[in-house]
Amino acid sequence: MIANRQDIKQLLESRGIKPTLQRLKILESLLLKQEHPTADMIYQRLVADAPTMSKTTVYNTLNSLVAKGLIFPVTITGTEVRYDAESSCHHHFLCERCGSIIDINIECPKVKKKEIDGHLVKAVHGYFLGICARCLAKH
Ligand SMILES: [Zn+2]
Ligand SMILES: [Zn+2]
Repeated sequence: MIANRQDIKQLLESRGIKPTLQRLKILESLLLKQEHPTADMIYQRLVADAPTMSKTTVYNTLNSLVAKGLIFPVTITGTEVRYDAESSCHHHFLCERCGSIIDINIECPKVKKKEIDGHLVKAVHGYFLGICARCLAKH
């Protein structure tokens, strides 16, 4: 997991994205917290420290990071797009109570294969639905 700014800068440059301070902050906030935020959540988090940050910048930056394959849209809630900076193959758990999306790392032999029934697999989007451990502990 990449955590320091210099690495994030190099990562952006390696994909041909000019590493402006705002872009660095947006990608950094996705890499540091594995909570699959929406664009609005990222904006709210960053605007407190960077009042010049605009929603348009956040949306445009997220779109270009997706286009370059640096982050991935997660649409399992059906009502919003959340963003994920974890590129290794993993599953998601969606909590129906609090809406958290939590990374689940389990071995799945079928998922490891690049080909299933003659089809070329490029991405896997499955998820588990339920109540997360934090919500369970509250009740
Ligand atoms: Zn929950
Ligand atoms: Zn994830």
